[in-house]
This record gives sequence, C-alpha cells and structure tokens, in this order.
Amino acid sequence: MAEKEDFYKVLGVERNASDAEIKKKYRSMAMKYHPDRNADNPEAAEVKFKQIKEAYEILSDPKKRAAYDQFGHAGIDPSMGGRPGGFGGEGFSDIFGGGGRQRSNAQRGSDLRYNLELTLEEAVAGTEQKIRIPVLVTCNECTGTGAKKGSSPVICSTCHGHGQVRMQQGFFSVQQTCPTCRGTGKQIKDPCGVCHGQGRVQETKTLSAKIPAGVDTGDRIRLSGEGEAGERGGPSGDLYIEVQVKQHAIFTRDGANLYCEVPISFVTACLGDEIEVPTLNGKVKLTIPAETQTGKTFRLRGKGVKPVRGGSVGDLLCKVQVETPVHLTKEQRALVEKLGESLSGGGKHHSPQEHSWTDGVKSFFDKLTG
Ligand SMILES: [Zn+2]
Ligand SMILES: [Zn+2]
Repeated sequence: MAEKEDFYKVLGVERNASDAEIKKKYRSMAMKYHPDRNADNPEAAEVKFKQIKEAYEILSDPKKRAAYDQFGHAGIDPSMGGRPGGFGGEGFSDIFGGGGRQRSNAQRGSDLRYNLELTLEEAVAGTEQKIRIPVLVTCNECTGTGAKKGSSPVICSTCHGHGQVRMQQGFFSVQQTCPTCRGTGKQIKDPCGVCHGQGRVQETKTLSAKIPAGVDTGDRIRLSGEGEAGERGGPSGDLYIEVQVKQHAIFTRDGANLYCEVPISFVTACLGDEIEVPTLNGKVKLTIPAETQTGKTFRLRGKGVKPVRGGSVGDLLCKVQVETPVHLTKEQRALVEKLGESLSGGGKHHSPQEHSWTDGVKSFFDKLTG
C-alpha cells in the first residue's frame, strides 16, 4: 500500500490551522474536485476528492485530529478513513446542502434515572404515580444564556471561539479543551445573578408518570425530554423510570406467572375439599381432590399477569402444603393412633412416597453389600 499523503498537505493548510480555516479550505477543495465538475477527468478527480474527504474527516474532529497529530496515520483507525463507495452520501449534502453542519455550543442535557418502587398489585394493574425529581432547568432570568439580562456572552479570548487550544508537550502538539471557556468558545463577562452563569437552575419537578400494566423489576419507562435541561439552549435529556417491584406477602412472580403456597389441612388433603385461594383480583375457588400430596401444584389459568410487552395472561400456580396437626388433645391423639393402626394393618400401601423411598433405600444398600 502506498504511503498516505499528509492530511494537512491534502487540504493545503498549516498544521496549526483553525477548525474554521480547515472547513473553509475543505469546502473550496471539495467544490473544485467534485467529479461532476471535472467531466474531462472524473477518475482522477474522484481519487483526489476521496483524499480530501478523508483528510477532512480526521482534521475536523478534535479527537481524531489530536491522535493524528500525535501518531500520524497510525493513530487513526483505518476503518475511519476514506469510506469506500462513491458520492451522494451524507458528506455531500453537508457541503452543498446549504450551510453544512455548524458546530454548536448547545449541549443536550443529561438523562436522569429515577428508581420507582411499586407494589406487585400496582405493577400488575398499572398505576399513575406522582414523582418528585430534582432537575436542572433552563434559567428563566437569562433564558439559558448564563449572561446577565441585557448582556450576551462574548467570544472567548483564550481560544478565540474555537473551544480548543493547542498545547506543546515535548515534541508533540496536543489539542485540548479550552480551560477558560471549557470548550464553549464563549465567555460570560457579566454572569446572570440567578444561575451564576450556568444557564440552568436546580428545581424540584413533580411529574405524573403513567406506569403501564404488567411492568416488572428492571423495566424502564422513558419520559422523553423530562431529564436535565440542555446547556445553552440544547435539548433536554430524558428521564428513565426504573421499576423495582416490592416483595409480596403471598405471591412471587416469574414473568407472566404468579406463584403462591397454600396451606391445607391433613383432613382436606385426605378427603378432598373445595377451598378458597387468593388471586390479585380477589378470592377464587380451588378443588383439592382426595389423597392430595403435599407439594402438589395446581394451575389457575389466566390468574397471572398480562405482560407489559404483550402476549397472553399468565397463570397462578398454587402449591399446597399439607399441615401436620398440632396441639392435639388426648382424645385426638388416641384417634390418630387408632388411624395409624388401621393404616398399617390393612395390608395396603397408604404412603406412596415413603413406600418408593423405602424401596430406593433398600436397593441402595443391596448394591452396597452385594
Ligand atoms: Zn476558550
Ligand atoms: Zn440565568
């Protein structure tokens, strides 16, 4: 590959040329070498035009320019250089489309994050929440310029409005953000008394946020333009509400499904019964069949959550826990004893888990000894 030509030479500017000089030179060179204007030798013009475009892409970007100044062509990601392909890309309308892209001092405000705790009921049903957030808003007194009413910012005397200064570091010349104006290119001689030249003031804003039904922990809701005000008339950032669902006394949630544990009596488990179980919309009946084992899960279809991103409503899964009776009277103990005798004397297996467990243990020991 041929050695690349120096970008400053390509554009015909000095190494210390200002951004404005580089831009001006680039425009006139791009005009001159545009293939449409060089019908007699479009190929040569295209090659030259690409070189100009590549050089401008680097030198017009303070970071890339600094890297190039420091390390030459090696300092630049090769993928950044001369994009393959022809013309009519966005670079072109930039030049001829009137005005080109002006580097603006306006800066977009920061995005804000707000952690919102919701109950499970609120998250599932959706809710409207009033939230109070501290935000920087555009100063009314100076309409965001930062300059005292009736005055306006002046061009920075350190960087002459470029926002960047070149510093000598050993052999290298490094471009840095101007320390006087912090890159804005402007200085405020007479600062606004309300915002002290910041152009923004801190306020507590009360917002009403609509939380859609079905949100879950980690979901974010974006309120466009409700973040911090931009600097010097820039657009506001966004506010992200991050949802955190509190633990529920009864239900846990996994996606669209809800889970709960339902204690049932020993008698209900033996003989079966119809019981009431809670859902987020009130109680429903659940039939427990006779001889239900502890840990058995019953599915109540459609009693879960409707997901916020669409899809069908989930289920409620009720896991029953059979409770061992406590605080037995003498009489009750006698009855249980009697029941025990009856269960063990009939020649039938009444404990399915224990039975298979005993079998398993037996074969385990048989293998050990055999
Ligand atoms: Zn400056
Ligand atoms: Zn102000």
